Amino acid sequence: MTNDIDTTTPVGLLTGKVVFITGASRGIGAAAARLFAREGAAVVLAARDTAALDRIVTEIRAGGGAADAVTMDLADHASIRAAVGRVGELHGRLDGAFNNGGVAQRPGPLDATSDEDIDQQFAVNFRAHWIAMTAEAALMRRSGGGAIVNTSSIGSRRAVPPLPAYGAMKRALNSITETAAVTWAPQGIRVNGITPGGTATEMMEEWEAVTPGIIEANKAATPLGRMAEPREVAEVAAWLLSDRASMVTGAIVPVDGGAGA
Ligand code: NAP
Repeated sequence: MTNDIDTTTPVGLLTGKVVFITGASRGIGAAAARLFAREGAAVVLAARDTAALDRIVTEIRAGGGAADAVTMDLADHASIRAAVGRVGELHGRLDGAFNNGGVAQRPGPLDATSDEDIDQQFAVNFRAHWIAMTAEAALMRRSGGGAIVNTSSIGSRRAVPPLPAYGAMKRALNSITETAAVTWAPQGIRVNGITPGGTATEMMEEWEAVTPGIIEANKAATPLGRMAEPREVAEVAAWLLSDRASMVTGAIVPVDGGAGA
């Protein structure tokens, strides 16, 4: 038997990698930007809120990390392609992409969901990630491959009566995640998804504001008895983006405290 311990593996999970993160202005994406930088990646943060991105970039740089920001609207094809293009201009390569940006729908039953909400959910939570993945994969191929992680949701796994369009688009995202994994495996590109359960971000606070009690109900339905901290979700993405997950592709990994079990 060979000794399988690789003593050349860098200590930081993402040392030397260039990683692009969408939805990086707050919540899970902001936590990911901070964590990935600490793990040695040069990060490029994308979202619409430029001021928030700039604050996080300044903080990461002050801590000795490498970070840049690019303003991007996930509803706009050209904006997504331009943001990935900016990563190419900055670094000439892309090793990891965390497609995490997303928007909650206005809660309401299937038959009361507006056409506008369906369109927004389709554009931001599904089409955007397809476009981003395609642009990211093209850049990754230039340097021999990379890894992509898409943020889906526990809501992709089952019926979601209060958020029907959100659940549907997240399930569709799981489908293209698996398809991309199989399509791009020969090119050295791994593609995985994560399905967070309730996570303590502004998205949950906003849901609580219109549906009081939803956070407590969420905790009660979670065997670990609490919501995830954003960093705990980012940790799973960091591992999936790292070379330590070199044999993992096409997986949709729950990060839900057991809520889906
Ligand atoms: P959040 O705090 O609301 O953050 C959402 C992020 O997405 C923000 O950075 C926001 O940035 C960005 N975003 C939204 N619309 C955008 C657009 N049109 N263009 C560009 N960026 C846009 O939410 P979060 O909880 O961190 O959620 C992150 C991901 O986890 C989402 O995909 C969400 O569906 C998923 N998720 C969350 C939970 C939860 O309980 N929190 C559970 C399961 C899955 P700007 O507003 O600056 O553009």
